[in-house]
Amino acid sequence: MSDAETLFERIIAGEIPSDKVYETETTFAFRDIQPQARVHVLVVPKKRYRNVAELAAADPQLLSDVLTTAAKVAELEGIAESGYRVVFNTEGDAGQTVFHVHAHVLGGEQLGFFGR
Ligand code: 5GP
Repeated sequence: MSDAETLFERIIAGEIPSDKVYETETTFAFRDIQPQARVHVLVVPKKRYRNVAELAAADPQLLSDVLTTAAKVAELEGIAESGYRVVFNTEGDAGQTVFHVHAHVLGGEQLGFFGR
């Protein structure tokens, strides 16, 4: 992986403005700029891994932190009870565009089935 900063590292550093929802020592959560549901928040580990597979292999505790933050975001957004989806797009066919692993937290309305 190149050492060039990713977009999300610049967002975490505050160099690019974002609508922050929650932050911990190891994770950062902010609203997606192009929401695909009424609630659409991205949760990123502050330390960069390319995708969820690399994160899981290298640092399972940090993956757990990301999922704990996703659950906290759902609580803060009032969707913990109504239901929500956590998605990690991983590489090309899934449409991953930013290669700094991130969980999409989606909810606030009935979500459609997805696949193709
Ligand atoms: P991916 O397609 O990699 O799973 O998700 C990347 C997400 O980042 C997309 O949903 C896209 O809308 C979001 N995104 C891209 N650029 C920005 C930005 O500058 N700010 C915010 N808040 N979200 C962004």
